[in-house]
Amino acid sequence: MNKPSHYFRNHCATMNSDEEKGCGTIMASFEERLQKLQSILDEARSVVFFGGAGVSTESGIPDFRSKDGLYNQHDVQFDKYPPEYLLSHSCLYDQPKVFFEYYRQKMDVRTIEPNITHIKLAEMEKAGKLTCVITQNIDGLHQKAGSKKVYEVHGTTQRVYCDRCGKEYPSDILFTSTEPVPHCSCGGMLRPDVTLYEEGLPHEAWENSINALAKADVFIIGGTSLTVYPANTLTNYFRGKHLIIMNRDETAQDRYAELVFHEGLGEIFSRLH
Ligand SMILES: [Zn+2]
Repeated sequence: MNKPSHYFRNHCATMNSDEEKGCGTIMASFEERLQKLQSILDEARSVVFFGGAGVSTESGIPDFRSKDGLYNQHDVQFDKYPPEYLLSHSCLYDQPKVFFEYYRQKMDVRTIEPNITHIKLAEMEKAGKLTCVITQNIDGLHQKAGSKKVYEVHGTTQRVYCDRCGKEYPSDILFTSTEPVPHCSCGGMLRPDVTLYEEGLPHEAWENSINALAKADVFIIGGTSLTVYPANTLTNYFRGKHLIIMNRDETAQDRYAELVFHEGLGEIFSRLH
């Protein structure tokens, strides 16, 4: 296959709306885009992957913001609260019983397994291609698949600590504790190391992400619509050559990508070697 590289580029920005449907990146067939992606990866020295909810949906974890996502699975007793409140700092500290009841019902990922995307990314890291995974997900599935360098920009359900003395606890204590609000032996409240609404992002994970991006030659974004700040600013820190976007729906940054996939992540990653 000897297509000029611009064949894969997206020229939507210069087209009128009638022409947009068949533009640039999507015009090349799935097979052609896969081949192109494989050749980019074969030559890559430092790949960074940034993933959102779409990475975990194929493991059975609902997307928080999609139509069928977590936010729409209202149980009767939670109906009076907006979902953003139930995962907020205010809820944890003002109504901890409500917070932990919701958390136990909705955030228990103990039986969820990594899917092919997690597994392939872990293999790519092991092979020395992938520098790190940056993730908005809090489910720990990348580590479960074997990834070592994972920067969790929204924290993780897999770490639990006392908010008074800082002592760490096994993460399943929040699900196995008989206390409605679980406590440390010091009397402080236990909490997941998840970035709740009204809380700042973990500084170190963000700094590490930006540093890795600045050195990467390939940046793959998968399973996120790139609408949430600050995730939508990550591409600003990428100085490399190849930007790849994989998401079911169009994203605001598709036009900047060399390759765009609207196929499922599993369909794509299962074909890479
Ligand atoms: Zn304590």
